[in-house]
Amino acid sequence: MKKLVILFLTFLIVLTFATAFAISAQTKSTENKTNHIYIDPGHGGFDGGAVGNNIYEKTLTLAIGLKLAQYLKRTGFVFSLTRNADFALAGNKRDDIYKRVALINNSEAVLYISIHANSFPVQSVRGAQTFYNPLFEENRELAIAIQNMLYVADPSNKRLAKAISGKYLIDEVAIVGCLVEVGFLTNPEECDKLSTNDYQEKIALMIYMGILSFLEKYGEI
Ligand SMILES: [Zn+2]
Repeated sequence: MKKLVILFLTFLIVLTFATAFAISAQTKSTENKTNHIYIDPGHGGFDGGAVGNNIYEKTLTLAIGLKLAQYLKRTGFVFSLTRNADFALAGNKRDDIYKRVALINNSEAVLYISIHANSFPVQSVRGAQTFYNPLFEENRELAIAIQNMLYVADPSNKRLAKAISGKYLIDEVAIVGCLVEVGFLTNPEECDKLSTNDYQEKIALMIYMGILSFLEKYGEI
């Protein structure tokens, strides 16, 4: 019971922050160009991505991507999605990724978030984690801002924002952004949580809060 009360209070605090940031983001969107965000829900169509007990990565990334889009929309941001339903952008994985990168790079967006879910042969491995291209300092700052918020959704998560290279999308997207692995589908407990609407909502809210916290610090990108 005590745990529930603490969780509820934490959530209230988070919501209060969200409202405050949202108002400031709304004001900002008319003042500068930081208001267009590209959301990339990983996989789709023939490419299911990782799979857990009861959910495909492609289903989860889309659900969280759409929820994130709603948070952005409600607070005056412009958003684009690389996909808004269960489809791939090409007939094979390579062209699919090329298309995602082209869509983002040819847009007016100033920031992108690619959403994925992880898997690992060892079931005990768990925890959401952000990855970034270390080429731009802003990528690191954004990844850390989102990672810090993800700890609120799962206080047991000990993962840190991590620099990564050799992944086509992260290497080639020319605007500020990061990739969010929302958790491990191969961890039964985390997979169960990720399957619920409530937890998906929470993760989307935390990504949104991370974006706001980053924009608060950086203003115009
Ligand atoms: Zn993936």
